[in-house]
Amino acid sequence: MINFKHIDASSTDHALSVLSQYGEGARVLAGGQDLLFRIKKYIVKPECVVNLKTIPGLNYIRLTPEENLRIGALTTLSKIAESAELQQRYSVLAQAAGVVASPQIRNMGTLGGNICQDVWCWYLQDGFSCWKSGGKFCDLAGGDSRYYGSIMGGHLCLSNHPSDTAVALAALDARIHVASPRGERVAPISNFLPGHTWIDGRLQSHTLQFDEIVTEIEAPFRPTHSTYLKFALRKSWDFAIASVAVSAVIEDGIWDEVRIVLGGIATFPYRSLEAESLLRKKKISDALAGAAAEAALQPAKPLKMNGYKVDLSKTLLRRALLSLAE
Ligand SMILES: Cc1cc2nc3c(=O)[nH]c(=O)nc-3n(C[C@H](O)[C@H](O)[C@H](O)COP(=O)(O)OP(=O)(O)OC[C@H]3O[C@@H](n4cnc5c(N)ncnc54)[C@H](O)[C@@H]3O)c2cc1C
Repeated sequence: MINFKHIDASSTDHALSVLSQYGEGARVLAGGQDLLFRIKKYIVKPECVVNLKTIPGLNYIRLTPEENLRIGALTTLSKIAESAELQQRYSVLAQAAGVVASPQIRNMGTLGGNICQDVWCWYLQDGFSCWKSGGKFCDLAGGDSRYYGSIMGGHLCLSNHPSDTAVALAALDARIHVASPRGERVAPISNFLPGHTWIDGRLQSHTLQFDEIVTEIEAPFRPTHSTYLKFALRKSWDFAIASVAVSAVIEDGIWDEVRIVLGGIATFPYRSLEAESLLRKKKISDALAGAAAEAALQPAKPLKMNGYKVDLSKTLLRRALLSLAE
């Protein structure tokens, strides 16, 4: 492992000033489940690591009609999965947090870190030259795309976004609060995670600049039915091969404000407006759930080895929709 300077931030302002001072050479550390792995693998070689866990007041879940749902960026995935309030009103998020990796990783990993994590493509991890490591090629395009390759196209890097909670948050229409020396900005999650984008010379799946940190995740307060379904090769310790997050307001069996987001199949949480529009103001039925699943996957253009994800995603979506009707 390389040597780097480690600084415990005492406040958000302190963290931001260190990031400004070190520029490209600094990285932010939350639970460390992603970042430390990458440092050990020499994928990331920071000069300085800024520890956010020492900042008081960024670990909370607050829920009020006036202020919406607000979750501090340093809140652990375990706390989110175990929250009775979230299980009841935002079950999609509690369920997604509860199926991330293993209990040990959920005890350390934070919501902020989970949505900011980088891709886990095996070509990147095993030292192949690719867009993310300074090369000019994505091996997933013609290589082994079974687990990590997008079926919805992509720009440069074709590796899927790996976060379970980001898919759930997209179904909840969440907004990401970001602090920087220029003040605070708030981004809808679709703008925050647009797919791989060059920012400050790095090909990232989020739009954070080097001197920005996520402080809070917010979602609207409204009565919703919601659920998250995930298919992974192993029951724990594994990323989604495919996943589905659905949220809707269902009154007297009629669906409204439907949001359908697919995970494990695109370089960002993939929202299907086509499937949503089929369900709006309707009662769910087996046939309608099937039609929505067909519509959601209609744009798919699988790579050489991941065509099976199309049928897998359709099945997950159909099951998720029908489960909310029960
Ligand atoms: C074996 C294994 C299995 C896994 N399985 C899954 C899975 O099934 N589903 C899933 O979703 N994930 C999975 N993961 C990924 C894991 O959940 C994430 O690595 C973890 O949630 C990241 O959170 P963290 O707090 O540890 O982040 P860190 O490792 O501390 O940070 C991750 C990244 O986010 C940045 N970052 C962290 N917090 C902030 C912030 N507040 N503002 C700005 N940037 C920030 C860091 O600089 C870093 O780039 C797995 C990881 C492992 C090792």
